Amino acid sequence: MLILRCPYCGVDAEETDLAPGGEAHLTRHGPGSDDAEFRDYLFQRRNPRGVHFERWRHAFGCGKWFHAARCTQTLEVFGTYSAQCSEPPEEIMTAIRTRRPDWEMPA
Ligand SMILES: [Zn+2]
Repeated sequence: MLILRCPYCGVDAEETDLAPGGEAHLTRHGPGSDDAEFRDYLFQRRNPRGVHFERWRHAFGCGKWFHAARCTQTLEVFGTYSAQCSEPPEEIMTAIRTRRPDWEMPA
């Protein structure tokens, strides 16, 4: 079972206490964007086998959204952090690079 630590209340929440919110750090496109940008924003998602950044909500806890970095293949969790971060914090990136030296941040 996937267990993520909520960065707000510090609880190690089981997957059943959480609600998934999809991929983190999406570039949002709205009015004024072209059709391709808006289509990609709505429908294009990464589906990596390995390191992935995701949004989760502590639904049956504090109710707040947060981000998690984890491996989709092994369920290894590299860390969780505030949903207000526009990119993963350096300590998360260090944790990933320590355990996955060959991994590179996707463009
Ligand atoms: Zn919480």
